[in-house]
Amino acid sequence: MPHDLPKAYDPTAIEDHWAEYWVREKLFAQPTPTEEDRHSGQPFDILLPPPNVTGRLHMGHMLNQTEMDILTRWHRMRGDRALWLPGTDHAGIATQMMVERQLATEGFKRQELGRERFIKRVWEWKCHYGGAILDQMKRLGASVDWDREYFTMDERLSVAVREAFVKLYEQDLIYRGAYIVNWCPRCQTAISDLEVVYDEHKGHLWGIQYPVIGDDGKETGEFLTIATTRPETMLGDVAVAIHPEDERYTHLHGKTLRLPLVDREIPIITDDWVSREFGTGAVKVTPAHDPNDFALGQRHHLPSINVMDDTAHINDQGGKYAGLDRFVARKEIVADLEAQGLLAGIKDHVNNIGHCDRCKTIVEPRLSLQWFIKIQPLADKAIAAVKEGHIKFTPEMYAKTYLNWMENIHDWCISRQLWWGHRIPAWHCSSCHKTTVSREDATNCAQCGSDKIEQSTDVLDTWFSSGLLPVSVFGWPNITSENRRDFDTFYPTSLLVTGFDILFFWVARMIMMGCWFSLDVPLKDGSPRSLAESVPFREVYIHALVRDANREKMSKTKGNVIDPIEIVKQYGTDAVRFTLASMASPGTDIAFNVARTEGYRAFANKIWNAARFMFMNIDRAAEAGIVIDTSVLGSMPSAEPGAPLESRWIIAELHVTADRVNQALANYRFDDAANAIYQFFWGSFCDWYLEIVKLSLDFSEGADKARTKSALTTLVSVFEASLRLLSPFMPFLTEEVWHALHDGKPPARSIALTHFPEFDTAATVPTVAGEMALLQSLIVEVRAIRKEIGVEEKAAVPIELRIGESLKPAISQNAAIVERLARVSEIRFVSQISAGLAKHATSQFDAAVVYERKIDVAAECEKLNKEIAKQEKNVANADRQLANPTYIAKAPTHIVDGLRKQRDEAQHLLDKLRADRTSLGC
Ligand SMILES: [Zn+2]
Ligand SMILES: [Zn+2]
Repeated sequence: MPHDLPKAYDPTAIEDHWAEYWVREKLFAQPTPTEEDRHSGQPFDILLPPPNVTGRLHMGHMLNQTEMDILTRWHRMRGDRALWLPGTDHAGIATQMMVERQLATEGFKRQELGRERFIKRVWEWKCHYGGAILDQMKRLGASVDWDREYFTMDERLSVAVREAFVKLYEQDLIYRGAYIVNWCPRCQTAISDLEVVYDEHKGHLWGIQYPVIGDDGKETGEFLTIATTRPETMLGDVAVAIHPEDERYTHLHGKTLRLPLVDREIPIITDDWVSREFGTGAVKVTPAHDPNDFALGQRHHLPSINVMDDTAHINDQGGKYAGLDRFVARKEIVADLEAQGLLAGIKDHVNNIGHCDRCKTIVEPRLSLQWFIKIQPLADKAIAAVKEGHIKFTPEMYAKTYLNWMENIHDWCISRQLWWGHRIPAWHCSSCHKTTVSREDATNCAQCGSDKIEQSTDVLDTWFSSGLLPVSVFGWPNITSENRRDFDTFYPTSLLVTGFDILFFWVARMIMMGCWFSLDVPLKDGSPRSLAESVPFREVYIHALVRDANREKMSKTKGNVIDPIEIVKQYGTDAVRFTLASMASPGTDIAFNVARTEGYRAFANKIWNAARFMFMNIDRAAEAGIVIDTSVLGSMPSAEPGAPLESRWIIAELHVTADRVNQALANYRFDDAANAIYQFFWGSFCDWYLEIVKLSLDFSEGADKARTKSALTTLVSVFEASLRLLSPFMPFLTEEVWHALHDGKPPARSIALTHFPEFDTAATVPTVAGEMALLQSLIVEVRAIRKEIGVEEKAAVPIELRIGESLKPAISQNAAIVERLARVSEIRFVSQISAGLAKHATSQFDAAVVYERKIDVAAECEKLNKEIAKQEKNVANADRQLANPTYIAKAPTHIVDGLRKQRDEAQHLLDKLRADRTSLGC
């Protein structure tokens, strides 16, 4: 019946094929629901954190996408209206840099090209090279809806960006102001606090003497020494500050100083903020180049003198130093001070220096005119949304991290001095100097009607557009009665899966903007939207980091970065996915070890071979005229009343495993889910069940055909259900085998569109598990004894078994299983094991192998002594724990009960072992 599977499992061949098929068939498309089917299926929707359009897949993506894909596939198979929505971010700085580099190889700069032509070049670049990461996702089988793919600069998303800006402006929540920002002289733009990375640098602390000026306007001969790590900024000094209670300087209150090199007279001011302990206790004040000084300048109404241009070269305010790079100027300034005898000393000093996260250039704090959002009203809603429980974080501790940041939030500087991005919809009028902010491109000043207006050259921070995604991808702001079904169905989204690194950048901003803008969209019935319905997502799952096998953070400098694509080429996507899933649980970093992937590749192989074994038997059955009824496939198998033990057992195990997997996934315990499947498939199904069921697969003349058919039906149906259980984790392998099983006539286009196994309490009978465990235990012990005493592999030997009457039927009714799996020729029930036989004792039975070779009494005694010592230790450990009142008070009852049971079993075994030792005469 089924197609032959190739002998060897070759992931590359099958994965390329299915990846292409899934995309071509639009298998995971989730179109806008029609009016009729709006209510069928609970929505489960999730936004892919949009990678930069310049991005390439790394291990963090691979983990994050594996988790999202498992959850989406799982929900889809449970009948939910599953939508995983992909897209890319235009990534202002990163993309602009990429194209600038390309231009550099052609020998020119973007300024020579001009804004318009440069942007055209970026779009060309995007068409050719952008979004490669999405192609990687396609190859890896991500079950996203490609029909809904977006780019943050798409027309419809740009409309949302403009609407959001204008709306906030109209609500008086956007303003323009001079502010000290982190300026990257290479990127020539302001960057946010979050985009600055700090590194320790060995630098210097220079002492500079500023001459004191007396009441007569002449230098008194006294100097006030200040300490600074950035002497070049002194060109912009407007004061020197001291602590008001610093007694060393009381006599200088109200005096002025001569700023060396510049010859500007500057005041000495007093402020509590100054630390008396730092340096000399006197600090220079440069409001245009330091955030603390900026605040100080505001408090004391001091002017700000900006001494650098966009590229961090000294500007005209810097006198003779104009035109010099900031670090060249530093050298010259120090040399000049020294020449004038004003250098009071140089000390080594370790500095924490901020770098641009994108290009690593040292950031220059700089005063500039920027656009800001008055963030408090938005933050208040975003705080309430989490505090009132409308958004749940996993792990929970991130709610606290989020709230802490949100409660200390500053106004958000949203302008960037880039060319690539959403240009700010504000026009400056050169006639009346007022600003026009407009949804439509303006041609005339809204204030005076002049046509001498020019659009702001700034673009918006990239996170402004990505912060809007949850509302904009579903159609906001154009929500009309005709086109609102997407919004009604999919907003709020169900879940966001993301890394900690963008909790503030993105997660926090989506919450602020989602809560703010969706509140304007009434519910379908016209009633106002509550805060609970305005959140962008109901849950946030923050995934862990993928580290290297030694738990080190992966970094290019360390050279320990693992490229997921390379590992996939070697072991297949399924094995890599399974590796990540098997280690993924909330809050635990993953130490990625290729050895594990190798192990899961072997697991995939095991399943492949099990499938081949099964197909071979189906073919043999067909030849013998036995055809199984395929209508049993696709649902959850249940055991017929008179079915043999192994059938009832494997079906029960399947149900229990399905239950564990469903519960684990509901709690983001990907590891528990993967491990449950692994143990079931490899342990229960392959190692035990397949071996036992071979007994019933008898196709010879005169064999019991009904029995064979029943066994084969259970085998096939359990296997088929197991494939569905495994499908979200190993989508490729399961798709291939499932199609082969249905021999070109599958009941659906993909296994991914079938039903996920569900637990049915009726399927599990406790006695079945107990009986099977007893058989397994006996088989394991007999195998061990055989090994110990060196029985030849193929020889079938009798065993003696001493076992309680109540357990006897379980063994005798299933004697064939023991005989086959432990190579036993006969089971002799005895009341006493014959003297001299090699035996093992468990709490349930004593078993001995009847074998010619005499046992070595001394060796046996030694073994017994070891085992006795081990059990004594077990009993003692349990006793100690049970005698500990704190433990008893704290541990859950079932754990304590379990421990008591273990203790009793160990004691029972110990008694038996001691008796054996006596009878052996050790
Ligand atoms: Zn930069
Ligand atoms: Zn005007």
